[in-house]
Amino acid sequence: MFIDKARIIVRGGNGGDGSVSFRREKFVPHGGPDGGDGGRGGDVYLRADPRLRTLLDFVKKPSYEAERGEHGRGRKCFGKSGEDLTLSVPCGTAVYKEGRLVADLVLAGTQVMVAKGGQGGRGNVHFKSSVRQAPRLSERGEPADEVRLELQLKIIADVGLIGLPNAGKSTLLSRLTRAMPKIADYPFTTLSPNLGVAHYFDREIIFADIPGLIEGSHTGKGLGHEFLRHIERTRLLVHIVDPLGFGEKSARENVKIIDAELKQYSPLLAKKPQVLAVNKQDLSEAEAVYKDIKRFQRKRPVLLVSGVTGYGVPELLAEVTRRLREIPLDIPLANEEPVHVHLEPEMWVEKEAGLFVVKGKRVERLVKMTNFTRPEALERTQHILKKMGVERALLSKGARAGNAVKIAGFEFTFEPQMDIAGFEARRIRKLLVRGSL
Ligand code: GDP
Ligand code: MG
Repeated sequence: MFIDKARIIVRGGNGGDGSVSFRREKFVPHGGPDGGDGGRGGDVYLRADPRLRTLLDFVKKPSYEAERGEHGRGRKCFGKSGEDLTLSVPCGTAVYKEGRLVADLVLAGTQVMVAKGGQGGRGNVHFKSSVRQAPRLSERGEPADEVRLELQLKIIADVGLIGLPNAGKSTLLSRLTRAMPKIADYPFTTLSPNLGVAHYFDREIIFADIPGLIEGSHTGKGLGHEFLRHIERTRLLVHIVDPLGFGEKSARENVKIIDAELKQYSPLLAKKPQVLAVNKQDLSEAEAVYKDIKRFQRKRPVLLVSGVTGYGVPELLAEVTRRLREIPLDIPLANEEPVHVHLEPEMWVEKEAGLFVVKGKRVERLVKMTNFTRPEALERTQHILKKMGVERALLSKGARAGNAVKIAGFEFTFEPQMDIAGFEARRIRKLLVRGSL
């Protein structure tokens, strides 16, 4: 089944905990600390794989997690790192996070890290100091991030077939993709254009029949993005011309109409390299139309073909192959550029339901990695938090001794060591200087 959208949740592996351990040797009564670090958790990657054609697997299984890091052990044994997890996606998969494009995986083998594994916690071997000969503290492994992503498959057809209704696009597509013995079956849906793979010697060329483009705009029906996204990456357009013309207009006039409509619809699409193919060679009118168009067309190559009899089809394939060799593979998405995840302030305080919540990656990580069963670890964390300005930030948000404070899901009682009177005096002085009192 052809599925072009999927929502997934990926999670890196958690970091392993650091260990608290002391050397035990014969005749050495007080061995030093030797607790090793926990291993790093695995990262999650997405990688473009040309063998895949659908996101169906991700709809069936939307949740993934990389391996966790092992815990550290005594004798300075470091925990093993968790294995990275690489998920294969079809080429042409655009990756969105919170509605914004974060990666566009077009070329086979391109990969992007989408979730980072947690760091391993440090073992007590790191916490020895002149005043702390026997540190009974270690860090816990860092919990890994959980990331929600939306995947959208924006098919990369090499060639888009355009033309007025009845020009013979669909017929030519089936002819092109049946022209050579090997045919890959592509799923058809109403939203995706009809796709076919043509084989030309050792090359595989993906063709898309683009029915809506001109027919839709011709009848005044606008085309949604749903459709555009499948054609914006075609590398070459084959413009099919009906020698019988369309409506009241001659074939030559129709070529101009299509050019103008294409330009109006999307200047980017209009700039794509084009090959003109006068179709229905088996009809008596075709030859004269072909010659006429060839005379007034200087820039684009013009060929004479027939989707019904197969006349000129090998030549068309040869021309297309030759052109494609000169066009880069990774046509970027027209209207979108991958953005990088927004930066946030290092630390800030929010008030939520009477609770003071301290937020920020570093602060939260520090708390999550604290092993609260160890008083020394708690003390060290408090010290760092103070140095980072958490106490000051809480006081300026109005928190006072005894208030409940939450960091990374853990609740604490606020016990400021700073003199509140002094803090208030400084704050008032600052406000006066800024003139907001
Ligand atoms: P589309 O609307 O561009 O997809 O056109 P179709 O492929 O559906 O073809 C429209 C009509 O033209 C059909 O009746 C086809 O049989 C006919 N047709 C397509 N190619 C040829 C051709 O090479 N020769 C002749 N005589 N008729 C053709
Ligand atoms: Mg058609």
